[in-house]
Amino acid sequence: MIIVFKKGVTEIEQFLMYFKNLSLDIFQTELDNQIIIKLVGNTFMVDDNFLASFKDIEKVIRLDKTYDLVKYKGEYLNIKIKDISIGNDSKFCLIAGPCAIDSYDSLLETTTNMNRVDVIRGGAFKPRKSPYSFQGLGLEGIKILNQVGKKTNHLVISEIINESDLKYFEENVDIIQVGARNMDNYQLLKVLGKSSKPILLKRGLSASIEEWLLAAEYIVKNGNKNVILCERGIRTFETSTRNTLDLSAVSLIKKLSNLPIVVDPSHATGRYDLVEQMTLAAIAAGADGIVLEVSQDVEGLKSDGSQTISCKRYNNLLTKIKKVCEAVERDF
Ligand code: PEP
Ligand code: MN
Repeated sequence: MIIVFKKGVTEIEQFLMYFKNLSLDIFQTELDNQIIIKLVGNTFMVDDNFLASFKDIEKVIRLDKTYDLVKYKGEYLNIKIKDISIGNDSKFCLIAGPCAIDSYDSLLETTTNMNRVDVIRGGAFKPRKSPYSFQGLGLEGIKILNQVGKKTNHLVISEIINESDLKYFEENVDIIQVGARNMDNYQLLKVLGKSSKPILLKRGLSASIEEWLLAAEYIVKNGNKNVILCERGIRTFETSTRNTLDLSAVSLIKKLSNLPIVVDPSHATGRYDLVEQMTLAAIAAGADGIVLEVSQDVEGLKSDGSQTISCKRYNNLLTKIKKVCEAVERDF
């Protein structure tokens, strides 16, 4: 990134401080009584609106192609799906349900036992570490999800792992999820860019915020502006929790991007007994919604039992979610 100051401007200390605080490397030169600086590093952190407000700057040249389409430009995107809206200016959104769909009856029971839920989640194509683990019910699972959604009048979401299933997903779900393992599957992202369905884009296992936003840019650039980001923890040296929940990313995304952002404390922690606290913290950090693994039968689960909360716990948590929402002046 290159910044050219106006002729004769010599006082640029405040700018240099701003860039130093962002840990950028600064190279300064002068040409014909004009200061020119080159910035190297995570220049996506530089706020164009901030620079535009200074009369001493003549020109800003961005050499990096950043995520211009999903950048925050003073207004947040609120995505309307039937009678639900997800985004900064919408009600706090509750996405909940089992890790994997195992039968119509159990999904229906879980759904009806939750006091409030806006979107029912449930995996049908499960990307499992081991090829010997339960892989999900596939298309049959998507059909069950659709039936339960229709019966209980809820929106539904499920993860796609193969672009050839897109048509089926479009016919049966309201939001299509891209899992952490596919965040940088650019071919899939391009195809989803052609879809009319909103996409929930999970953060990659070790993706930086810039890489994540660029992945969202892929979808938007290809025609689908309705992307919801989902922070689900990243891999760090820490192994006591399944991942490390990056809550600062949530607050930062609010400054960098116009997209809605939700948090998944279940996959972030891997522990049902940490889900409650991380949910409440996520609201305080500015999340627009939460994704929780919930099941009526937490004992007999074929996947992610250790991080799944019971409907009873979920309903108790709802009362606390409401209180924290009130405290941070968020509609619930
Ligand atoms: C999921 O939500 O079912 C899932 C597999 O999560 P992640 O992609 O975040 O691991
Ligand atoms: Mn899971």
